[in-house]
Amino acid sequence: MKRAVSTIEGSRQNLYIGGRWVEPHSGVYVKSFDPTTGMPWYEFGNADAQDVSDAVDAARAAFENPQWRRITQTDRGKLVRRLAELVLENADVLAEIETRDNGKLLKEMRAQMRALPDSYTYFSGMADKLLGETVPVNKLDMLNFTMREPIGVVGMITPWNSPLMMLTGTLAPCLAIGNTVVIKPSEHTSASTLALAELIEEAGFPAGVVNVVTGGGKTTGDALVRHPGLSKIVFTGSTTTGRTIAANAAQNLIPCQMELGGKSPHVVFGDVDIDRTVNGVVAGVFAAAGQTCVAGSRCFVEASIYDRFVEALVERTGRIMVGHPMNDASDIGPLAIPEQIGKLKHYVASGVSQGARIAAGGKQPSREDLADGWYYEPTVMTEATNDMTFMRDELFGPVVGIVPFSSEEKMISLANDTRYGLASGIWTKDIDRAMRFANKVNAGTVWINTYRSAAFMSSMGGFKESGYGRRGGFDVMREFSRVKNVVLDYSGAMQDPFVIRLR
Ligand code: NAD
Repeated sequence: MKRAVSTIEGSRQNLYIGGRWVEPHSGVYVKSFDPTTGMPWYEFGNADAQDVSDAVDAARAAFENPQWRRITQTDRGKLVRRLAELVLENADVLAEIETRDNGKLLKEMRAQMRALPDSYTYFSGMADKLLGETVPVNKLDMLNFTMREPIGVVGMITPWNSPLMMLTGTLAPCLAIGNTVVIKPSEHTSASTLALAELIEEAGFPAGVVNVVTGGGKTTGDALVRHPGLSKIVFTGSTTTGRTIAANAAQNLIPCQMELGGKSPHVVFGDVDIDRTVNGVVAGVFAAAGQTCVAGSRCFVEASIYDRFVEALVERTGRIMVGHPMNDASDIGPLAIPEQIGKLKHYVASGVSQGARIAAGGKQPSREDLADGWYYEPTVMTEATNDMTFMRDELFGPVVGIVPFSSEEKMISLANDTRYGLASGIWTKDIDRAMRFANKVNAGTVWINTYRSAAFMSSMGGFKESGYGRRGGFDVMREFSRVKNVVLDYSGAMQDPFVIRLR
């Protein structure tokens, strides 16, 4: 791969359409900012409706191209596997690009990028395992079977947190099945997706199978969503944007998969090992500076251990090292976009005005070396209630509200009292209680005595306003394929259509 942080720095990055790197029609480029300094570090092309249309046309042509359409599933799987090898070879470079663009810790991004190839390999193996069915119809001399086939051109719109990881979960299965793709990465983090496109080219995918159009959401993203040539849209991002996209896509009856926001409940019972559980709660909400869709930001703690738990949590939170993402000693880095700082200040202040107390953090760090970056201290809000504004809305930052509870029934109703339904967690040694929670909680994922433990072979997805559709595991192969019903009459005779035989 030619790209590296050093070659991207100060450069203009073009769009990737039909296997060529092209300038945007408008000639307009947009700056991408380094979250540690707030300074621009490269520019990307601002794709307009014409560029988007070119990309969808290229993807459609690639979908029909025998070089892609008429290769065996096994050979398609091999291409995806080749991509896995290239991602592995370039994992550390991709990690540096990702960190530079979104401010997440380099050590975390390295681990994430080194894990991605396993996901590509996993889905590459599924390319030739998507089976149809034989249907025993109630007619003689008839064979009825189903075929699973690719759906066509898939538009993928991704967010700024973990752009390549989010993309891989849908791109890998999509390609394994034989679809073609137009990707619109977040305008805050486009560099890593462009770097991946270079690897896709190197892996030998035919031109147009994967296209990348960069630009803003309301411009480039909107043009993609409204394009009638798409077969499906996969959107990962906020619930507000998801609602707009689903409505716009509906004008052309384009189906969507929605991976949206969350406000996940994290429940702690009195029988737990406090230190271990504190680590779980801290990892669940402060990892990646709270910029994870599954962040356990509403923490319900059994009243019997509330004081001891809060004390341990505040002590542990105070030891979290906020620092430069390239520094291996840092535990959390800056937020990816500056608007997040204002948002967090607003919500924390509203929590205080509604009666919550800041027990840790609650401000930007005062250290001089962090003064230019978009940093925010991990924040614990005690005396919170589930109806406070900061407990209702997704903050997408390192803020957790702690609420005591005394009855299991009340806790379940509080946990479910949210418009989201992405994830949930429970800590207890009582397996019956854990299973009661798993049965009753209205969330797409339940973690028991762990949190944020995800694997590409597990099915993930949200309920309620956290979206619909699944990623991971075999379920996703069904999301990106469609069923064709085939009926074959081998009787050798066609009955008179006007003779109706009653049983
Ligand atoms: P966002 O909704 O602001 O933007 C996401 C993407 O949508 C970006 O690429 C953006 O350019 C594009 N976009 C914005 N407006 C658009 C429009 N009108 N038409 C088409 N595209 C448009 O989200 P974000 O701030 O980038 O990401 C954070 C959000 O993503 C959080 O809510 C988080 O919970 C969610 N998220 C969900 C998951 C999941 O799997 N459920 C994973 C990661 C992030």
